[in-house]
Amino acid sequence: MITLDDVTLTFPDGDRRVTAVDHVTLTAPAGTVTGVTGPSGSGKSSLLAVAATLIRPDAGRVLVGSGVDAVDVAVLPRDAATAFRRERIGIVFQQSNLLPSLTAREQLLVMGHLGGARGRRVTRERTDGLLDAVGLGGHADKRPAQLSGGQRQRVAIARALVHDPAVLLVDEPTSALDQERGGAVMDLIARLTHERGTATLLVTHDLVHRGALDALVTVVDGRVAGSAAGAASVAA
Ligand code: ATP
Ligand code: MG
Repeated sequence: MITLDDVTLTFPDGDRRVTAVDHVTLTAPAGTVTGVTGPSGSGKSSLLAVAATLIRPDAGRVLVGSGVDAVDVAVLPRDAATAFRRERIGIVFQQSNLLPSLTAREQLLVMGHLGGARGRRVTRERTDGLLDAVGLGGHADKRPAQLSGGQRQRVAIARALVHDPAVLLVDEPTSALDQERGGAVMDLIARLTHERGTATLLVTHDLVHRGALDALVTVVDGRVAGSAAGAASVAA
């Protein structure tokens, strides 16, 4: 589980500061997809960057895990935060950010080596198993240019899971995809989240696919403006 507890983040803007995240508190429980939605500029990506330990907040706690085992990643020194991110957090960005010269399998291998894969060697069995899980069995030797947008996003999802992260952070995974492929990617993220027990925080301003979400938090002007159970948990 990941909890943002009263998190505030400001950026410099000329001689003043702009508040991108304003006293946000939210939790993504393990095994669920928690959606974050809101207008452009409302602070969704900023919030995700804080959860990812990519940006340190001005104030507030970012707790990964629960109870006495929870780690406040907001106060970790930079090197420890990087190590923590590589071991425990998986990230999928809007554009899949694959390395153009590497095959799908190699994208996963490289990420596995970066993360130390929690002491586990990233074997070909593991990479190909994950590629199978995202519906890309048989595409392991293809480079990004040989894959469709939806397939590239699936490689990025497999790559984010290679080190078996506790937390999966996903920013606008469907915005470059048509509705059908977008829906398939959302369903895939939901299935993997439920199967693997990751605490998934997913930013989207596209609510067509809200059926894949277990909960939905709306942010406006950096603040939580509302939250609701998602269609997935209503159906469950
Ligand atoms: P979108 O839906 O367009 O992706 P968003 O909800 O993800 O928007 P953010 O990117 O988090 O919004 O931006 C929130 C606010 O913080 C905006 O006012 C933005 O201009 C500002 N901001 C974001 N990143 C930076 C930065 N690196 N430096 C300065 N200001 C920033
Ligand atoms: Mg954004």
